[in-house]
Amino acid sequence: MKINISNLSEGVHEYQFEENPSTIELDERFSKPVLVQVELEKRRRQLFLTGHIKTSGRFACDRCCDDFGKDIGIDYRMTYVYDMNDAGDTDKDELTVIQTSTNEIDIDEDVREYTLLAVPLKLLCRENCAGLCSTCGANLNKETCSCLKEDIDPDLVGKKLKKIVNNN
Ligand SMILES: [Zn+2]
Ligand SMILES: [Zn+2]
Repeated sequence: MKINISNLSEGVHEYQFEENPSTIELDERFSKPVLVQVELEKRRRQLFLTGHIKTSGRFACDRCCDDFGKDIGIDYRMTYVYDMNDAGDTDKDELTVIQTSTNEIDIDEDVREYTLLAVPLKLLCRENCAGLCSTCGANLNKETCSCLKEDIDPDLVGKKLKKIVNNN
């Protein structure tokens, strides 16, 4: 995904991209095309880019290990300057220094990084996912198992422990 900036007039320009996830080295969890809508404001000494990324992927639930689909969306900003003196107080993470001879801005790397950033740290198929039984491994979203009661009843576990301690 490249934007030609040579002879770009001052003002706001809009671009739309659709890219294969593997082309920008996103892993196989991302199965749908990555859509990127870009607004690029060209000023004399800076270029201000806002990117809106949308895609979706299939992820394994942290609790029950089942696959589930999830839409991923994130916006990001990037400021391009030819000279650090024109950076102002722009956050380093949102700043790229380019050469005056640069003809093209390549946004692949930024889109890849921000897409990965948009994946939640905790991946749950649903908020109240019941997970797997720690004893028999049954997926408790789909079935119940006979060990269920002991697992989730802390009082019962406590009583059992007491009994063991008393017996000693
Ligand atoms: Zn789950
Ligand atoms: Zn079980």
